[in-house]
Amino acid sequence: MNISFVGAGIGSLYAALLLTHKYPSLNVTIYEKEQRVGGRLNYVEFENGARVDEGPTIVLLPGKLKSQLLEAGFPERELELIEVDPLYRLRYEDGTTFYKYRDIERQAAEIDRLFNEGDGFRKYMTQKREEYRLGFDAFLDRGYKGKTDLFEPKLLMLLMRLKAYETAHENMKRFFKDERLRVAYSLQTLYIGGNPYDTPSLYGLIPYREQEEGIWYVKGGYFSLATKIEQELRRRGVTFELNANVERVRVEQGQANAVIVDGVIHPYDAVVVNGDFPLMERLIDGVKPKSYEPSSGTLLLYFTVTGEIELPVHQFDLPDDFAGSMRTIFEDGKLSKYPAMYTFNPSLIDDSLAPEGTSVLYVLVPVPRKLEREDFETSGAIEHLIGRIEQMVPAFRDRVLEMKVRTPMDAERFGLFEGGSFGIAPKLAQSAAFKPQARPYAHIDRLYAVGASVHPCGGVPIVMIGSQLLVKRMEEEMGALYHDDTRSVSSL
Ligand SMILES: Cc1cc2nc3c(=O)[nH]c(=O)nc-3n(C[C@H](O)[C@H](O)[C@H](O)COP(=O)(O)OP(=O)(O)OC[C@H]3O[C@@H](n4cnc5c(N)ncnc54)[C@H](O)[C@@H]3O)c2cc1C
Repeated sequence: MNISFVGAGIGSLYAALLLTHKYPSLNVTIYEKEQRVGGRLNYVEFENGARVDEGPTIVLLPGKLKSQLLEAGFPERELELIEVDPLYRLRYEDGTTFYKYRDIERQAAEIDRLFNEGDGFRKYMTQKREEYRLGFDAFLDRGYKGKTDLFEPKLLMLLMRLKAYETAHENMKRFFKDERLRVAYSLQTLYIGGNPYDTPSLYGLIPYREQEEGIWYVKGGYFSLATKIEQELRRRGVTFELNANVERVRVEQGQANAVIVDGVIHPYDAVVVNGDFPLMERLIDGVKPKSYEPSSGTLLLYFTVTGEIELPVHQFDLPDDFAGSMRTIFEDGKLSKYPAMYTFNPSLIDDSLAPEGTSVLYVLVPVPRKLEREDFETSGAIEHLIGRIEQMVPAFRDRVLEMKVRTPMDAERFGLFEGGSFGIAPKLAQSAAFKPQARPYAHIDRLYAVGASVHPCGGVPIVMIGSQLLVKRMEEEMGALYHDDTRSVSSL
């Protein structure tokens, strides 16, 4: 049987890993329009040979990630995870500096030291632990066959119990009095491109989980995971067609049966689309694209500098008026004068990324979409960010060897829907059963989907849960075919 994937993002790579482990005789081909695999899980390279992650930096759900890779027969020795503790530093404009630690009592003491709210934090952990236990199986680790699946009384009651009608920030008022703490435990919706003041509290389980399992780092950079999976897949006989832009997915008599590249028809028994789903819809024969709301855009700055950078591995540098800044970006569609700024300094724990005596630094800022580099230059936004870094890293400007910039318009040109970095926005109306599923259309057989804009959500291990749901669905619908090559197009 022959299966093709459109796009070599982590969703495809991991699904191919699972499929080839379970069914070694499957013929799998992955088409990727770029010259290398990984999609958003990629790297930026500098003239001095230094490399830094281009997209994902924070390894969440490390336990899940490891078990997922083991389940697909990925050699365990290939994945070296390093724990980052403190998880990160939060630095507020008013001068308050606050650390998150994995150890719950140490964290409670840190919160008591500054805010005298350690008990609120303990209550938060107890309650969220229970919510995560209930919510994971009910909403994350399952697929949906139709929207009405969500209307089961049990699920509706659970949604009420999890207070899905509250926003992530509003929900924090139940645990914390100080606004800085409410922000510290709700800003993580930004990891998936959602405004904490407008994103359902279900997504607010991210900060709970990172506190419980910690934040980890893949030795060699998160991007190295994509390269290593590619190597393993090649070893298993998977074909990679790079620089191959799929123009159309052919559907005949209600069945997807080919992809078209450079006008050439390549027949398959099944097609999995992995590019950002709203854009993939436009390639599929006979499908009327729906409208979706994109996630937030990001401005990304990447540096290589001389010497070590005096910053923790992860840091959030936050405005006093965080709510106002979010409103400016998400509601007014304007650049915030003092935006939240995330910095990632992996050279502190990984000397393999940059030549001796140099380091790399990654800076991410949520911004409105549709902006080009010149918008950030003329508005002074890039200068403002460099100035803020220099307040923490003496003589930063003078030490910069090279800077690279990625804007929302770069993301759009790369193929991210409307330049949103994280797939479709995490809104209730675009979540769970209301999100595109592994089998997106009841009327098209043999067409499947995986990726950040497909259920369950963006984020590397979460997209990989989507790959697991995809393989399950393919097995339900085509299981017999995996063992029956006589019904494959290759033998027709
Ligand atoms: C700036 C940024 C920071 C992030 N930070 C984190 C983080 O810290 N932790 C975390 O877990 N996640 C993070 N994420 C999210 C994570 O990177 C994504 O959720 C995940 O990598 C998406 O994988 P995907 O399977 O959807 O594929 P994608 O990465 O979207 O890849 C899809 C691939 O399809 C290809 N393609 C598209 N159209 C075609 C076509 N017509 N023909 C052939 N190929 C095509 C594209 O070139 C691309 O390579 C971040 C994302 C970004 C952008």
